[in-house]
Amino acid sequence: MISKKMIPLMQNNSAIRMMFEEGKKLAAIHGAENVFDFSLGNPSVPAPAEVNQAIADIIKEEDSLFIHGYMSNAGYEDVRETIADSLNRRFHTSFGEANILMTVGAASGLNVILKTVLDPGDQVITFAPYFVEYGSYVRNYDGELVVVPPNTADFQPDLRKLEEKINGRTKAVIINTPNNPTGVIYSDETLKNIASVLEKKEKELGISIVLISDEPYRELAYDGAVVPWVTTYYHNTVVCYSYSKSLSLPGERIGYLVIPDEMEDSKSVIQAATIANRVLGCVNAPSLMQRVIKRCVDAEVDVAAYDRNRNLLYNGLKEYGFECIKPEGAFYLFVKSPVEDEKEFCETAKQFNVLVVPGSSFACPGYVRIAYCVAYERIERSMAAFKKIAEHYHLI
Ligand code: PLP
Repeated sequence: MISKKMIPLMQNNSAIRMMFEEGKKLAAIHGAENVFDFSLGNPSVPAPAEVNQAIADIIKEEDSLFIHGYMSNAGYEDVRETIADSLNRRFHTSFGEANILMTVGAASGLNVILKTVLDPGDQVITFAPYFVEYGSYVRNYDGELVVVPPNTADFQPDLRKLEEKINGRTKAVIINTPNNPTGVIYSDETLKNIASVLEKKEKELGISIVLISDEPYRELAYDGAVVPWVTTYYHNTVVCYSYSKSLSLPGERIGYLVIPDEMEDSKSVIQAATIANRVLGCVNAPSLMQRVIKRCVDAEVDVAAYDRNRNLLYNGLKEYGFECIKPEGAFYLFVKSPVEDEKEFCETAKQFNVLVVPGSSFACPGYVRIAYCVAYERIERSMAAFKKIAEHYHLI
């Protein structure tokens, strides 16, 4: 009954989701307050008040047939124009509504752009550690995900290895900044170097390479860190944005793609992506949420709350002898496992009711991901458990 392509997906059912289920089981035994689940990237800061206000106002003020109706597959023009204007204000770009395609979150945006550009056998390169769903998304269109090994010194991508991996079958490169799971923001220098590698290889091989910048964490940056705007570096860039984290709306499924005019064949790419949105079955991004974005385009979640979590966890773990780099963005800490097999470390942590995700789920064994998008009090209470884990491994 089940398609052959589905079987491996069922066998490799997400380790993150499994850990989350495990957390629920442990909570039933030990009490939720004694289980420290850091497995899932579900925002812990509520959506800004103006989002809920906008929902109420829209229902009252706008025509019901309009707000619940079908629209252009690319989304409402006025919403796309509002987003383009906001980007232009912030990043000194000159996008119009035609450059913006509303999507059902970043997951859908990635699928739309991959469906738009991939032929069977095409290769898509990404850098470990990476969001594991990229593999499934690329395989949806019979492409092949090629992974550049991690640069564990600072988790900026290894560009010499990128260059080695590019060949005549390379169609796209996916980057994710601020990064899940490392929290690293790609620097200006990194982006300049990625652009020059891609331009060089495009010329040398006579091919076009799309740089897909997956940016659901764009707004979550700390200590004044700047997240460079990628379309200004490289002509064939598509930005994939989502409000899942930046407005704490992951269940509402709303985001957008930016397809700049500078992109080769940009008009055809925009047209093809709009059709991809339709034929993938999304048809259009959720209508009510698009109307909300129109009213809340520059709204922000309380990033300071994640920053407090980040500092508490990072400082505590460093004090207990764990090794990790301080994340500049997103809401994850990527910690070196004190033993080579990080799955063993995850099992040990579980004995202390601490749930973290093995780095092998992100193609980076030897590390674990701690999602600190949880209540501050959970982190405070978990520190004693982390201390015991550190003692178990003789780190202190
Ligand atoms: N890309 C990355 C790097 C993510 O971490 C996530 C979600 O966690 C997504 C894409 C998917 O986000 P969305 O909820 O917008 O589909």
